[in-house]
Amino acid sequence: EAKARGGGGYEVYRRGSATKTLERILLENELKKSIQQGHFNLEYQPKFNLKSGTLTGVEALVRWHHPDLGMIPPDKFIPMAEETKNIVALGEWVLREACSQAKKWQESGYRTLRIAINMSAVQLEEPTILDKMKEILQETNVSPESIEIELTESAFADREGLQEMVQQMRELGVTVSIDDFGTGYSTFSYIKELPVDTVKIDKAFVNDIHVNEESRAIIKAIVTLANTIGLNVIAEGIECEEQVKVLNELGCREGQGYYYSKPTSATNCEKFMGKWKVNE
Ligand code: C2E
Ligand code: MG
Ligand code: MG
Ligand code: MG
Repeated sequence: EAKARGGGGYEVYRRGSATKTLERILLENELKKSIQQGHFNLEYQPKFNLKSGTLTGVEALVRWHHPDLGMIPPDKFIPMAEETKNIVALGEWVLREACSQAKKWQESGYRTLRIAINMSAVQLEEPTILDKMKEILQETNVSPESIEIELTESAFADREGLQEMVQQMRELGVTVSIDDFGTGYSTFSYIKELPVDTVKIDKAFVNDIHVNEESRAIIKAIVTLANTIGLNVIAEGIECEEQVKVLNELGCREGQGYYYSKPTSATNCEKFMGKWKVNE
């Protein structure tokens, strides 16, 4: 009896994990189908100068709208897309779409508006990625200096790989920023060797900046370092006015977050652009 129950329990457990795997396989398959059928769109989150409140640029963030499952957030599918390499095709779509939108905005008068695009380390392992970027920049006829590529430092297996990639991207004329800065463990010591333009302070530090001395100290150190070596700093994940105040006190001049605006449609973003003067 006990043995049978035990066996049954084992079966249930096994079935449970097998189901999970099946679910995962199905979702991977859905992802692939959705890429082919174009069930994605981009939202844009505006970035602001924290002192003047003027718009400084926008970040493109991909959204998956599955016909039956609804909206699936990036944290749920980007890691999966990376593991399965589907991120290569999806990332190409993101680049083309964001560059086309950038071109549209440039043509309607927002010439100096910067559009930031997230790229995964997996995309950058593709030997053809730089040619692809060049092709998309030419095809969409966007000015490369208005395109900013956000790379997550911790996603790179080796430092030289990242350094080389940043260099080659800058040769295309785009600017490069390091996303989620402060979360990787060796970031501080070698950021000065990276030819990047901007570091983005991870939202984990911004989150409790107004109540946590330690987060404040870390941000202060990042801002000081950035100022010393001539990098821009931007804070992500700003949710309240107090955080803006502390960031200003610490000398951080740029930021984005729900306090200002959630990521939203390109059309909605245009309202911000009308309201806030685009920087010259
Ligand atoms: P990320 O690039 O660091 O983007 C910032 C994330 O924080 C976004 O989540 C954004 O919606 C969210 N966020 C913005 N303001 C706030 C705030 O005030 N509070 C909080 N709690 N969150 C805020 P999202 O859009 O879900 O994207 C998550 C991550 O997925 C991104 O992190 C990025 O690493 C990745 N991702 C998004 N779009 C793309 C893409 O097109 N390509 C690639 N490779 N990765 C992408
Ligand atoms: Mg980003
Ligand atoms: Mg980030
Ligand atoms: Mg990230």
